Amino acid sequence: MKAMILKGPQQPFEMVEVPDPVAGPGEAVARVLACGSGLTIQHIKAGRIKADFPRIIGHEITGEIVEVGAGVRGLTVGDAVTAYYYLNCGHCRWCLANLEPLCDNTGGNVGRNCDGGYAQYLKLPAHIFIKLPPGLDHKAHAAEVGVVTDALATPYKVLRRARVKAGETVAVFGAGGGVGIHQVMLAKWARARVIAVDVARDKFEACRKAGADEVVNAAAGNVAQALLDLTHGAGVDVAIDYVSVTATLEAGARALGRHGRLVTLGGAGQPFSVSSLDMLLKEQDLLGSRYVTRLEVLETLDLVARREVWPIVTEIRPLAEAEALHERVERGQVIGRAALLIP
Ligand SMILES: [Zn+2]
Repeated sequence: MKAMILKGPQQPFEMVEVPDPVAGPGEAVARVLACGSGLTIQHIKAGRIKADFPRIIGHEITGEIVEVGAGVRGLTVGDAVTAYYYLNCGHCRWCLANLEPLCDNTGGNVGRNCDGGYAQYLKLPAHIFIKLPPGLDHKAHAAEVGVVTDALATPYKVLRRARVKAGETVAVFGAGGGVGIHQVMLAKWARARVIAVDVARDKFEACRKAGADEVVNAAAGNVAQALLDLTHGAGVDVAIDYVSVTATLEAGARALGRHGRLVTLGGAGQPFSVSSLDMLLKEQDLLGSRYVTRLEVLETLDLVARREVWPIVTEIRPLAEAEALHERVERGQVIGRAALLIP
């Protein structure tokens, strides 16, 4: 098969011919139709996230099962699928508690600790493939369907993690990013008032189109004050931080109102200070949100199948143009998500 390989961090992609994967017991192989090209996998290419090399990256796939190994149940040749990003075990107490990203026996991530979707075929443990619900035209919309498993499912889960309710005010930090803009979309879907926060002026219009009621330019200065002004001093109900540097986390915390909830995910993961007195007096929650469960991927696919939300994929290119596309991802030039079609 043709595969786009990375031989090490900070190396260009190389299109190579490698043996087709063969499904062992408990495994399945899918033909890949499309794969999302998000910042998470660009971090691997750029060496900011460690991975085992040589590596075929990519996990936001749309595929069709072409082979199932011995002992596999519930998956048959011809099934349209996407992939779960985490190589979870499915058996430990965390997996059984529907907290799969916290798996005790995790094998890492698809496209990082095993080969991923930038290739014609992808082999995974069968339970990592997720069958697409009926009503999704995965052939016509392979790029859009592929990115649901991360770019849409991740913000969908945050709505539940942060207990977002209709009518609440939600501020999204990093709203112009590939996942941030879908957080704006999903918070709007949840009937919240949405405030997009970003420094990239060229993304503001897209944030409004995705559902932002207001946009705060973080480059202009005091974000916490701007959020307090927009809520007449009450503060926001939920601040979701996809940047997670010290400054954004502290701004988010200061902007929280009574019963406010701050969620950190992705981004820089820097330490920050909050007022424990505010936490006490206002009964505030500080939350981390790590990827999603397989059920949450399915639920998000259902939303997309019903067209309640639709992925924002603005750049779709053939696999051969992965290098050029990743340069645009690295420079933050992509609105929403980019994706590759696999020939
Ligand atoms: Zn587990």
